Amino acid sequence: MHHFSYRGGVLHAEDVPVPAIANEVGTPFYCYSAATLTRHYRVFTDALAGMNATVCFAVKSNANLAVIRTLVNLGAGCDVVSGGELQIALNAGCAPAKIVFSGVGKTEAELRLALACDVGQINVESEAELLTLSRLASGLGKTARVALRVNPDVDAGSLDKISTGRKEDKFGIEWTLAPELYRKARNLPGIDAVAVAVHIGSQITSLAPFEAAFLRVRDLVLMLRADGIDIRHLDLGGGLGIPYDHSNTAMPPSPDAYGEMVKRTVGGIGCSLTFEPGRLLVGNAGIMVAAVVALKDSTTRRFVIVDAGMNDLVRPAMYGARHEIIPVTEAPTGSSYASADVVGPVCETSDCFGKAYNLPSLKAGDLLAFLSAGAYGAVMASTYNARPLVPEIMVNGDQFAVVRRRPTLAEMTALEQLPPWIA
Ligand SMILES: *Cc1c(COP(=O)(O)O)cnc(C)c1O
Repeated sequence: MHHFSYRGGVLHAEDVPVPAIANEVGTPFYCYSAATLTRHYRVFTDALAGMNATVCFAVKSNANLAVIRTLVNLGAGCDVVSGGELQIALNAGCAPAKIVFSGVGKTEAELRLALACDVGQINVESEAELLTLSRLASGLGKTARVALRVNPDVDAGSLDKISTGRKEDKFGIEWTLAPELYRKARNLPGIDAVAVAVHIGSQITSLAPFEAAFLRVRDLVLMLRADGIDIRHLDLGGGLGIPYDHSNTAMPPSPDAYGEMVKRTVGGIGCSLTFEPGRLLVGNAGIMVAAVVALKDSTTRRFVIVDAGMNDLVRPAMYGARHEIIPVTEAPTGSSYASADVVGPVCETSDCFGKAYNLPSLKAGDLLAFLSAGAYGAVMASTYNARPLVPEIMVNGDQFAVVRRRPTLAEMTALEQLPPWIA
């Protein structure tokens, strides 16, 4: 459920007509709904009620300060994957104790920063990282609260490029090797290995892979306890999928069904739980709005050329993902629809949002909304083709605010300078 809907034939973000935002900030732009963020957070936490669960928002899905602050104000912690995200989470007001630091290749500088800030948990992904962390923590006279991220060798059944839990993926410690590393961790200075972490991928649309992974985690916890390693905390990662394209993709399980499955698999073993959802919270809380630049008909295709490109929303080009695209002004009933490829202006063939969209007749200047763009949208944007990062807007009821403005060309190029040998 989200708060983007037609009223009087015009797409609204909550109570704000989308064309009013376009008039003020120009296109393209991202638009987030505070009410939708709040709703998604509540639905997810309600589904986990009674399970001693903490929800840590995966900042990598949307690192906008206003988005993070909205969630932090509701009680969320943050899951971060770099020193930069760690500082952004702190800037957004997240308590260090509610920050989980994940990531497959944390540098010593990043680990030192995490220790200096006393983050709540560091998820370690290799023996090498564990040894480094032990050395750094004991050097600083600190004890790191650590989870070992295990790789349960489960195929998430999602897009290949966003599956992380198969043993050939780079993530985590192969689950069969984990007990030995926990034993080793017990004797390392500066390390308190208190938890098991798992995250098997993103945009997962079936419970089965989660269930398989969580059962492995449960077995591991029971095995470790038998060995005298008393794990009392689990980090079950993120990854629950969202509906993207209502016409032809699998509907993900509901948060309630997910919560039931969590209870069934790891609910009875006396562990507190952390979850790291990103997409589930912000994906459908955001849209990208672009304007039609021109229409072009070839003998075989119709192209709708828009002013947003793959640099602004890269998921289609990078993963083959498909976003639903709808006109901001609803076509009157009885309008004729035709198949069109929606493409951007970037000089790459892969700058195509998707083929064969069923769209009403459009003209230059008409606005299109790309739905479900709140996660892995603005954060993955680049300035390829010297295109400025697009502004981000947040709507709250009948108000809207620019929460990241469009940079000027001078700002975009401010870090460049000529070497001394060029006159
Ligand atoms: C990406 C990521 C998440 C969030 O994934 P979503 O699919 O957005 O929920 C959570 N935890 C880790 C470790 C991640 O890498």
